[in-house]
Amino acid sequence: MQRSLSSLQHDLVPITINVGEDFKSIVWKAQYDMDFNTECLFCFSERITGYRVEDEAGHTGKVAVCPHCEKVNAIYA
Ligand SMILES: [Zn+2]
Repeated sequence: MQRSLSSLQHDLVPITINVGEDFKSIVWKAQYDMDFNTECLFCFSERITGYRVEDEAGHTGKVAVCPHCEKVNAIYA
């Protein structure tokens, strides 16, 4: 399933994860959500992957992570 990432980014999600953080799949209990045909903000990867996550404060949200450099590219709802 693929959707445009930009259409999802306007929703504010109350999680403490920030764009540019390194992906911590185990700490955040990441579960695969969907793929995005979007270029990574930090490297030249042309695809990023969305995951459902739970941050260290127990808040749930979704993050889009580059599979190449493993940095968070976006927080979405
Ligand atoms: Zn990247």
